[in-house]
Amino acid sequence: MSIAQNLLSIKATLPEHVTLVAVSKTKPIPDLMEAYQAGQRIFGENKIQEMAEKWEQMPKDIQWHMIGHVQTNKVKFMAQFVSLIHGVDSLKLLQEINKQAQKNNRVIDCLLQIHIAEEETKFGLDEEELSSLLSSNEFQEMKNIRIVGLMGMATFTDNKNQIKKEFTHLKSIFDGLHPLKTVNCKLKTISMGMSGDYKLAIECGSTMVRIGSSIFGGRN
Ligand SMILES: *Cc1c(COP(=O)(O)O)cnc(C)c1O
Repeated sequence: MSIAQNLLSIKATLPEHVTLVAVSKTKPIPDLMEAYQAGQRIFGENKIQEMAEKWEQMPKDIQWHMIGHVQTNKVKFMAQFVSLIHGVDSLKLLQEINKQAQKNNRVIDCLLQIHIAEEETKFGLDEEELSSLLSSNEFQEMKNIRIVGLMGMATFTDNKNQIKKEFTHLKSIFDGLHPLKTVNCKLKTISMGMSGDYKLAIECGSTMVRIGSSIFGGRN
Protein backbone atom coordinates (compact mmCIF):
# COMPACT_ATOMS: atom_id res chain seq x y z
CA MET A 1 0.00 0.00 0.00
CA SER A 2 1.04 3.61 -0.53
CA ILE A 3 1.90 6.01 2.28
CA ALA A 4 -1.42 7.78 1.80
CA GLN A 5 -3.32 4.49 1.96
CA ASN A 6 -1.44 3.37 5.07
CA LEU A 7 -2.13 6.68 6.74
CA LEU A 8 -5.82 6.74 5.93
CA SER A 9 -6.42 3.16 6.97
CA ILE A 10 -4.72 3.73 10.32
CA LYS A 11 -6.62 6.96 10.87
CA ALA A 12 -9.87 5.16 10.19
CA THR A 13 -9.20 2.87 13.15
CA LEU A 14 -8.36 5.61 15.65
CA PRO A 15 -11.01 6.84 18.07
CA GLU A 16 -11.75 10.55 17.77
CA HIS A 17 -9.99 11.50 21.00
CA VAL A 18 -6.69 9.99 19.82
CA THR A 19 -4.19 12.20 17.96
CA LEU A 20 -1.93 10.66 15.35
CA VAL A 21 1.70 11.74 15.17
CA ALA A 22 3.17 10.52 11.88
CA VAL A 23 6.75 9.60 12.75
CA SER A 24 8.78 10.57 9.69
CA LYS A 25 12.34 10.31 11.04
CA THR A 26 14.91 9.27 8.39
CA LYS A 27 12.28 9.58 5.63
CA PRO A 28 12.74 11.96 2.68
CA ILE A 29 10.54 15.00 2.13
CA PRO A 30 8.55 13.51 -0.80
CA ASP A 31 7.36 10.77 1.59
CA LEU A 32 6.27 13.35 4.13
CA MET A 33 4.55 15.35 1.39
CA GLU A 34 2.55 12.32 0.40
CA ALA A 35 1.23 12.11 3.95
CA TYR A 36 0.67 15.86 3.96
CA GLN A 37 -1.36 15.69 0.75
CA ALA A 38 -3.45 12.98 2.39
CA GLY A 39 -4.28 15.42 5.17
CA GLN A 40 -1.66 14.73 7.84
CA ARG A 41 -0.47 17.85 9.69
CA ILE A 42 1.40 16.44 12.71
CA PHE A 43 4.83 14.95 12.13
CA GLY A 44 7.26 13.47 14.66
CA GLU A 45 11.04 13.53 14.36
CA ASN A 46 13.74 12.36 16.74
CA LYS A 47 16.69 14.50 15.59
CA ILE A 48 16.52 18.26 15.98
CA GLN A 49 18.73 19.01 12.99
CA GLU A 50 16.67 16.82 10.68
CA MET A 51 13.41 18.27 11.97
CA ALA A 52 14.66 21.84 11.44
CA GLU A 53 15.64 21.07 7.84
CA LYS A 54 12.24 19.57 7.11
CA TRP A 55 10.47 22.47 8.82
CA GLU A 56 12.33 24.92 6.57
CA GLN A 57 11.37 23.09 3.41
CA MET A 58 7.79 22.08 4.11
CA PRO A 59 4.43 23.86 4.39
CA LYS A 60 4.10 26.05 7.46
CA ASP A 61 0.82 24.65 8.73
CA ILE A 62 2.60 21.49 9.90
CA GLN A 63 2.97 20.87 13.62
CA TRP A 64 6.39 19.44 14.41
CA HIS A 65 6.75 17.13 17.40
CA MET A 66 10.15 16.27 18.84
CA ILE A 67 9.79 12.68 20.03
CA GLY A 68 13.44 11.78 20.65
CA HIS A 69 15.84 12.42 23.48
CA VAL A 70 16.71 16.12 23.61
CA GLN A 71 20.17 17.46 24.31
CA THR A 72 20.05 20.71 26.23
CA ASN A 73 22.46 22.51 23.91
CA LYS A 74 20.27 21.82 20.87
CA VAL A 75 16.97 23.21 22.15
CA LYS A 76 17.72 26.57 20.54
CA PHE A 77 17.56 25.04 17.06
CA MET A 78 13.88 24.14 17.42
CA ALA A 79 12.58 26.72 19.90
CA GLN A 80 11.19 28.92 17.14
CA PHE A 81 8.86 26.36 15.65
CA VAL A 82 8.49 23.12 17.61
CA SER A 83 4.91 22.41 18.54
CA LEU A 84 5.32 19.71 21.21
CA ILE A 85 8.38 18.17 22.88
CA HIS A 86 7.59 14.63 24.04
CA GLY A 87 10.77 13.57 25.79
CA VAL A 88 11.35 16.05 28.61
CA ASP A 89 12.97 14.19 31.47
CA SER A 90 14.77 16.72 33.66
CA LEU A 91 14.29 20.09 35.29
CA LYS A 92 17.50 21.26 33.65
CA LEU A 93 16.14 20.51 30.19
CA LEU A 94 12.84 22.16 31.04
CA GLN A 95 14.69 25.28 32.18
CA GLU A 96 16.54 25.48 28.89
CA ILE A 97 13.30 25.02 26.92
CA ASN A 98 11.73 27.76 29.02
CA LYS A 99 14.68 30.07 28.36
CA GLN A 100 14.69 29.48 24.61
CA ALA A 101 10.90 29.82 24.41
CA GLN A 102 11.17 33.15 26.20
CA LYS A 103 13.76 34.33 23.68
CA ASN A 104 11.27 33.47 20.95
CA ASN A 105 8.44 35.13 22.80
CA ARG A 106 6.30 32.01 23.00
CA VAL A 107 5.12 29.16 25.17
CA ILE A 108 6.34 25.66 24.26
CA ASP A 109 4.16 22.66 25.11
CA CYS A 110 6.00 19.70 26.64
CA LEU A 111 5.29 16.18 27.80
CA LEU A 112 7.22 14.71 30.68
CA GLN A 113 8.70 11.36 29.77
CA ILE A 114 8.11 8.68 32.37
CA HIS A 115 10.28 5.60 32.66
CA ILE A 116 7.79 2.74 32.42
CA ALA A 117 9.87 0.06 30.68
CA GLU A 118 11.83 -2.64 32.42
CA GLU A 119 14.87 -1.92 30.28
CA GLU A 120 17.55 0.28 31.78
CA THR A 121 18.21 1.98 28.47
CA LYS A 122 15.00 3.96 28.09
CA PHE A 123 15.02 7.57 29.26
CA GLY A 124 12.49 9.04 31.63
CA LEU A 125 11.58 10.13 35.12
CA ASP A 126 10.38 7.81 37.84
CA GLU A 127 7.32 8.76 39.90
CA GLU A 128 9.33 10.35 42.65
CA GLU A 129 11.33 12.51 40.25
CA LEU A 130 8.11 13.48 38.51
CA SER A 131 6.43 14.72 41.66
CA SER A 132 9.50 16.55 42.88
CA LEU A 133 9.84 18.27 39.51
CA LEU A 134 6.21 19.34 39.47
CA SER A 135 6.29 20.61 43.03
CA SER A 136 9.56 22.53 42.67
CA ASN A 137 9.57 26.32 42.76
CA GLU A 138 11.79 26.39 39.70
CA PHE A 139 9.11 24.63 37.69
CA GLN A 140 6.22 26.62 39.05
CA GLU A 141 7.91 29.88 38.12
CA MET A 142 8.45 28.96 34.47
CA LYS A 143 6.19 31.01 32.25
CA ASN A 144 7.26 29.93 28.78
CA ILE A 145 6.62 26.21 28.97
CA ARG A 146 3.43 24.29 29.54
CA ILE A 147 3.29 20.67 30.63
CA VAL A 148 0.39 19.15 28.71
CA GLY A 149 0.81 15.51 29.68
CA LEU A 150 3.02 12.47 29.91
CA MET A 151 4.87 10.26 27.46
CA GLY A 152 6.16 6.74 27.84
CA MET A 153 7.70 3.91 25.89
CA ALA A 154 7.03 0.29 26.72
CA THR A 155 9.68 -2.40 26.84
CA PHE A 156 10.68 -3.73 23.42
CA THR A 157 9.11 -7.17 23.71
CA ASP A 158 6.46 -9.44 22.18
CA ASN A 159 4.98 -10.03 25.61
CA LYS A 160 1.63 -8.22 25.39
CA ASN A 161 0.96 -8.59 29.10
CA GLN A 162 4.20 -6.85 29.92
CA ILE A 163 3.44 -3.98 27.55
CA LYS A 164 -0.10 -3.69 28.86
CA LYS A 165 1.17 -3.54 32.42
CA GLU A 166 3.55 -0.70 31.53
CA PHE A 167 0.95 1.33 29.63
CA THR A 168 -1.55 0.87 32.44
CA HIS A 169 1.08 2.09 34.87
CA LEU A 170 1.58 5.29 32.88
CA LYS A 171 -2.17 5.86 32.74
CA SER A 172 -2.45 5.47 36.50
CA ILE A 173 0.38 7.94 37.10
CA PHE A 174 -1.40 10.39 34.80
CA ASP A 175 -4.71 9.94 36.62
CA GLY A 176 -2.99 10.48 39.93
CA LEU A 177 -1.67 13.85 38.77
CA HIS A 178 -4.92 15.26 37.48
CA PRO A 179 -5.89 17.61 40.33
CA LEU A 180 -2.62 19.58 39.93
CA LYS A 181 -3.31 23.27 39.38
CA THR A 182 -0.32 25.35 38.36
CA VAL A 183 -0.92 27.63 35.39
CA ASN A 184 1.84 26.08 33.32
CA CYS A 185 0.42 22.60 33.72
CA LYS A 186 -2.63 21.55 31.70
CA LEU A 187 -2.65 17.80 31.70
CA LYS A 188 -4.59 16.31 28.83
CA THR A 189 -2.27 14.14 26.76
CA ILE A 190 -0.93 10.64 27.25
CA SER A 191 1.54 9.91 24.46
CA MET A 192 2.01 6.17 24.24
CA GLY A 193 1.88 3.58 21.47
CA MET A 194 3.89 3.01 18.30
CA SER A 195 3.31 0.88 15.17
CA GLY A 196 3.52 -2.42 17.02
CA ASP A 197 1.53 -1.57 20.11
CA TYR A 198 -0.73 1.43 19.47
CA LYS A 199 -3.98 -0.50 19.62
CA LEU A 200 -3.08 -1.85 23.03
CA ALA A 201 -1.94 1.63 24.09
CA ILE A 202 -5.33 3.09 23.15
CA GLU A 203 -7.10 0.38 25.14
CA CYS A 204 -4.93 1.41 28.07
CA GLY A 205 -5.82 5.11 27.78
CA SER A 206 -3.46 6.64 25.23
CA THR A 207 -4.63 9.89 23.65
CA MET A 208 -1.68 10.33 21.28
CA VAL A 209 0.01 7.62 19.23
CA ARG A 210 3.37 7.94 17.48
CA ILE A 211 3.33 5.79 14.35
CA GLY A 212 6.20 5.56 11.89
CA SER A 213 6.90 2.31 10.06
CA SER A 214 3.23 1.34 9.59
CA ILE A 215 2.77 4.56 7.63
CA PHE A 216 6.10 5.17 5.89
CA GLY A 217 7.52 1.64 5.77
CA GLY A 218 10.57 0.25 7.54
CA ARG A 219 13.68 2.28 8.31
CA ASN A 220 17.28 1.20 7.75
C1 LIG B 1 10.70 5.86 16.01
C2 LIG B 1 9.78 6.18 17.13
C3 LIG B 1 8.41 5.89 17.05
C4 LIG B 1 7.75 5.21 15.86
O1 LIG B 1 8.14 3.87 15.79
P1 LIG B 1 7.43 2.87 14.75
O2 LIG B 1 7.65 1.53 15.36
O3 LIG B 1 8.14 3.04 13.45
O4 LIG B 1 6.00 3.23 14.66
C5 LIG B 1 7.62 6.26 18.12
N1 LIG B 1 8.13 6.87 19.21
C6 LIG B 1 9.43 7.15 19.32
C7 LIG B 1 9.92 7.83 20.55
C8 LIG B 1 10.31 6.81 18.29
O5 LIG B 1 11.61 7.10 18.42
